Amino acid sequence: MGVGKNDEVICQSNTFIASVNPVIYQGATPILVDSEADTWNMCPELLEIAIKDRISKGEKLKAIIAVHLYGMPYKVEAIHSIAKKYDIPIIEDSAEALGSSYKERKCVTFGDLYIVSFNGNKIITASGGGALITKHKALKEKAIFLSTHAKDKSVDYLHSNIGYNYRMSNISAGIGRGQMLALDKYISTRRQNYVLYKERLKEFDTIRFLDEPKHHFSSR
Ligand SMILES: *Cc1c(COP(=O)(O)O)cnc(C)c1O
Repeated sequence: MGVGKNDEVICQSNTFIASVNPVIYQGATPILVDSEADTWNMCPELLEIAIKDRISKGEKLKAIIAVHLYGMPYKVEAIHSIAKKYDIPIIEDSAEALGSSYKERKCVTFGDLYIVSFNGNKIITASGGGALITKHKALKEKAIFLSTHAKDKSVDYLHSNIGYNYRMSNISAGIGRGQMLALDKYISTRRQNYVLYKERLKEFDTIRFLDEPKHHFSSR
C-alpha cells in the first residue's frame, strides 16, 4: 500500500501484536482505535473520529488494518463505508477468520487485501506460514516479488529492491491443503466448544459471552 516513513496506519487496539508490527517494520506509526461492545473489534464511530483528527493535523493516513478477532467479523459495512468516504484502503487481518462469514459472504471477499494465518494455533494449520489474498493482480505480483528476494527480471542475480524470504515451503503448503479439507469440521467443533463453555459457565453472572450479533447472520 506504499506505507513508508512518516505515514500513519490505523489499527485496532484489541488484537494480537502481529496486526501492528508490519506498520513499525515500514517505519510508519500505528494509530490505535478502540473497540465496540458487539464484536469487540474496531469501533466505526471512534474510527471516524481518529481519521478526522489525523487529517486535521496534516498526517498521511495510508491504510486501515481491521481485524476479525477470534473469527468474529467486525462491522464490515460501517467500517468500509467510512474508509471509502476518506479514500483509505483497508487491509483485513483475517488471521483468525478463515471460514468466517459476514452476511453470508466470506471474510476474505470485501476489500483489497487480506491475510490469513496457518500458524499452529489457528483454525487450520500448515505448521506455519499464511496467505495473502487479493483480487488485484499488481498487488499479487508485488507481494510475490518481495517475498522471494525481489530478484530483478534478468539472468544475473541483480536486486534493485530489498526483498524477503517470506515464501511458504511446499511441504507446509501440502499440509495446509490437507487441512483445508477439514476446515468445516474444525469450525463446527469450535461452535460446539462455545456452546459447552456457555452452558458450563452460565452460573457465573460475572462472565459474559461474545455472541454472534444478529446483523452478522452466518450461513453456518
Ligand atoms: C496469529 C495472528 C497473526 C499472525 O499470524 P502468523 O501466521 O502467526 O504470523 C496476526 N494477526 C492475528 C489477529 C493473529 O491471531
